[in-house]
Amino acid sequence: MVHFGLVRIGLAAVCAVAVSGCMPWAGDEAKKAAPPAKRVAADAEATKAVRLAAAKKAGANELGQIPVLMYHRIVDRPTTVDDLTPQQFRAELELLAKENYVPITAAEYVTGRIGIPAGKHPVVLTFDDSSPSQVTLDGTGTPKAGTALAILLDVARRHPGFRPVGTFYVTKDMFGLATPEEHAQVLNWLHGNGFDIGNHTRDHLNLRGRDKKAVFAEVMAGHKLITDLVKEAPPVTLALPYGNQPNQPEWARKGTVGGQTYNYGGVFLAGYTPAASPFAKDFNPLAIPRIRSGEKKGDCKRFCSIAWLDWLKANPDKRFTSDGDATSVAYPKFKESFMAPRFNSYALAY
Ligand SMILES: [Zn+2]
Repeated sequence: MVHFGLVRIGLAAVCAVAVSGCMPWAGDEAKKAAPPAKRVAADAEATKAVRLAAAKKAGANELGQIPVLMYHRIVDRPTTVDDLTPQQFRAELELLAKENYVPITAAEYVTGRIGIPAGKHPVVLTFDDSSPSQVTLDGTGTPKAGTALAILLDVARRHPGFRPVGTFYVTKDMFGLATPEEHAQVLNWLHGNGFDIGNHTRDHLNLRGRDKKAVFAEVMAGHKLITDLVKEAPPVTLALPYGNQPNQPEWARKGTVGGQTYNYGGVFLAGYTPAASPFAKDFNPLAIPRIRSGEKKGDCKRFCSIAWLDWLKANPDKRFTSDGDATSVAYPKFKESFMAPRFNSYALAY
């Protein structure tokens, strides 16, 4: 079992600026004193054999796909296809726990910091538009019953190992709160409790068709909205409003305005398939797909959460399964050709 608190601190120290490909374990090996070469080689062989056996036993497939689930409002009376009732949201989290998923944040996903136990599958929970139905805290900092946050914390309490983490893609709506002090209060609470805060732009404008300067300005405005409130947690990812990419997809990932720069590890869309492993060749940080939550009916028959969770369950060779060791990328040898070459030195093929 990995101790997540330690993992987070350790990773933060190495990945001070989290960008795609920044691996937490880089440098650790070099710090160790060097014993006689022959013994080192023998020890390494023995250790590798143990790690390979563990990866095989877990059915590890760290080149497999990861569902990134997208939530909007959690309300008693849904008015759009994006809304869920508190009961529906709770049922989905219960299902994820039952099917051996463990939540990770969007920042952890794009930077490959996937520290979950052997045999478990990562899932990324993302919440768009900073609605009060997602996060409302009372005067003592206790999450209000029925909000997404309160439900997630409650499900995690009932299912040890189900990490209560997720990524909130905020806009200027800022959970319906009026003052900068209240904004700072809620974002600091989220950051302090292990949640990830992502950029969803300040004004939620459609970026498609806008010129480069306008895209940079809008993304930077969203970035500053967050960094002005929580200095130690600059966003690592962006979710595109309406899932629409700007004319040049790269503008959403990296830009400079007035000497300030944003440089994200990943940019998320709004549809409609599981996402590639960050260690796989087909991982594209400019266009990471997400899955809308929904039962298997109507226009959700094939492309919403229940349909995809069923598909991943029926196709374990396509799903990301951890070996429990965050310092390796473990997978069946047969899948070797799908490995992104930049992670070759972390490969553990069995
Ligand atoms: Zn949105």
